[in-house]
Amino acid sequence: MAGNSPRIGVLALQGDVREHVETLNALGVVPSEVRTIDQLGQVDALVIPGGESTVIDKLTRMFGLAPVISERIAEGMPVLGTCAGLIMLANHLADGTADQQTFGGLNVTVRRNAFGAQVDSFETELSMPTVSQQLVAATFIRAPVIESLGEGVHVLASLADGTVVGAQQGNVIGISFHPEVSGETKIHEYFLGVVEAFLSSTQR
Ligand code: GLN
Repeated sequence: MAGNSPRIGVLALQGDVREHVETLNALGVVPSEVRTIDQLGQVDALVIPGGESTVIDKLTRMFGLAPVISERIAEGMPVLGTCAGLIMLANHLADGTADQQTFGGLNVTVRRNAFGAQVDSFETELSMPTVSQQLVAATFIRAPVIESLGEGVHVLASLADGTVVGAQQGNVIGISFHPEVSGETKIHEYFLGVVEAFLSSTQR
């Protein structure tokens, strides 16, 4: 890679932060944990973990991070959200709580907890040709789905029945499932490529 290593942050207020850090470590990247506006200012790109979107929403608003994250995303900061992270990136939310807000950036409608109580969690392998020639391991845990896609959004992954579970719009990538809990590295590797392309285009 030319120049400095990209500075990757993991939003570390709630959720499976450690698993994302370990997945990035496996790819030779040492991310920093982001809990403050200052720390956000020191990263080039952000990973938003899975966990509970209502809690991530509340905490980021409480700490004043939410509007700054939205602004950075709107300015082009590369961002990867998994599960609750995807929910936080959706421009529109279905089945959110009454006052639930998102950062936005991905022109989609995401439905929370879309698989219902009967199918709380499951594992599968998905074809994601944009990301990798190989199948990608996907763990779904109380997962959301992408119910509708607006202009400029590219589908990254779908289930056999056509349900969209991964999408990208520019530098914003959101997926319904957790690659990080099974040691799957391909999506993070793809994300790092997006980050590098962004940084070389802005000639940091
Ligand atoms: N159901 C959770 C939410 O609404 C997401 C679950 C997850 O991230 N594993 O935020």
